[in-house]
Amino acid sequence: MTSDYQSVHEDIFHGVTRSVCPVCRRVVDAQVLLRDGTVILRKRCPEHGWHEALVSSDAGWHLNSQVYNEPGAIPYDFATSVEEGCPHDCGLCPEHKQHTCVAVIEVTSRCNLRCPTCFADSGEGVDLPVSQVEFMLDRLLETEGRPEVIQISGGEPTLHPDLFSILGAARDRDIRYVMLNTNGIELARDQSFVRPLAEFNPAIYLQFDGVDPESHRTLRGRDLRAVKEQALDNLAEAGLYAVLVTTITEGVNEGEIGDILRYGLEHPAVLGVSYQPVAFAGRCRDGHDPLHAVTLPDVLQALETQTDGLFWMNDFRPVPCPHPTCSASSYAVVHEGEVTPITRLLDVDDYLDFVVNRTVPDLSDDLQPVMEALWSMAAVMGSDGTTDSLTCAACDLALPLETVNQLGRESFFLVHVHSFMDSHNFDLKRLMKCCIHELLPDGRAVPFCAYNVLGYRKEIREESEVRR
Ligand code: SF4
Ligand code: SF4
Ligand code: SF4
Repeated sequence: MTSDYQSVHEDIFHGVTRSVCPVCRRVVDAQVLLRDGTVILRKRCPEHGWHEALVSSDAGWHLNSQVYNEPGAIPYDFATSVEEGCPHDCGLCPEHKQHTCVAVIEVTSRCNLRCPTCFADSGEGVDLPVSQVEFMLDRLLETEGRPEVIQISGGEPTLHPDLFSILGAARDRDIRYVMLNTNGIELARDQSFVRPLAEFNPAIYLQFDGVDPESHRTLRGRDLRAVKEQALDNLAEAGLYAVLVTTITEGVNEGEIGDILRYGLEHPAVLGVSYQPVAFAGRCRDGHDPLHAVTLPDVLQALETQTDGLFWMNDFRPVPCPHPTCSASSYAVVHEGEVTPITRLLDVDDYLDFVVNRTVPDLSDDLQPVMEALWSMAAVMGSDGTTDSLTCAACDLALPLETVNQLGRESFFLVHVHSFMDSHNFDLKRLMKCCIHELLPDGRAVPFCAYNVLGYRKEIREESEVRR
């Protein structure tokens, strides 16, 4: 009972974690607080005082996500040892809790745009020599055996003069899938570039910020709608597929979340949309209130309201291989104009709830690995593996066999939301289980959010400038 001289805390104390000071990046303790149905990170730097940031606009989603946490896999080798403690030993060090599901290689820091929102701060820059990329891939083979997915990124990787040699190097090493991150300008400009690209069959991750010209101007500096359309048409002609990658920014394009989904569903080259609430890093660091930001559940809620229930919030499940508060996915079967999320036909929680482990024994043998493969960062839309998994799931969806037999890679659609961290909402708990790792030229692998927030990117950029 509370006596009359005591008052009650406004917040519910949920726990503690570690974060960084948004000013000096010093590692500091942080409280996790539940406030008015949201999740807040509260921390104090001895030099720069108190800071608070919104982590999630929906405490219920955030807390319920935790049961989707799966055990991590240990890499075959580590590049660093434990010396100063997390997050100063990245490499990976032996204390990291998950292997590399997606290895990112930034093959160039050059770009043909100067987006104000660029967390990589790309523009003028340098290309990695092919021999350097080969070294990084070989190192990845040593740590991963047969790596699942590499993501060729930048800068703008299509500007690299030896891009095809790099794709060939990945193919020679039997890496399962290659993603290519691009703004699409080169894909739109030159079909004679896209056709030979198809030989390597990369999954294209196409930056796509909306259907309103103003969103493009604000986020990218110019209206790129025609460029994106042309790029997608060229991909379709060459038999390649894309996932649209959308940076969601408060006050700019959060009202276009549904329109972007509909656009993707209508274009034959598009097999999914990945929404990414903006992370305040690189060129996009200043001038925002960290207590007002778009968070993962905001995007899910917007999908429900802006698509008239095509997708409900309840159609999404956290992805269990990294920390489950980092991202969420849903898949739909698209058949004769009907879009049916598979969660409405199958109880995926029977297979993905790792903590409670309420797997149904009779069903688990076939579907457990299928569901784990789909709710994974390594699931690549359009790949044989993901298409087979989705077709296998569809067999259990109470769909007529005749319908299942007609399903191909274009019959499935992914909606993914990935909430990268910045210095405000940075949480070491999430970082230690990160499975998206930036490969460094010296052979280290650094969790992607650490690379952007903790100064690794700056360090690598400065080293490459010196070598220039
Ligand atoms: S984030 Fe992972 S690799 Fe980096 S220091 Fe922490 S445990 Fe080690
Ligand atoms: S966000 Fe992408 S397209 Fe824009 S400047 Fe950065 S690397 Fe280039
Ligand atoms: S990149 Fe960041 S947000 Fe994504 S899985 Fe890793 S820690 Fe989580």
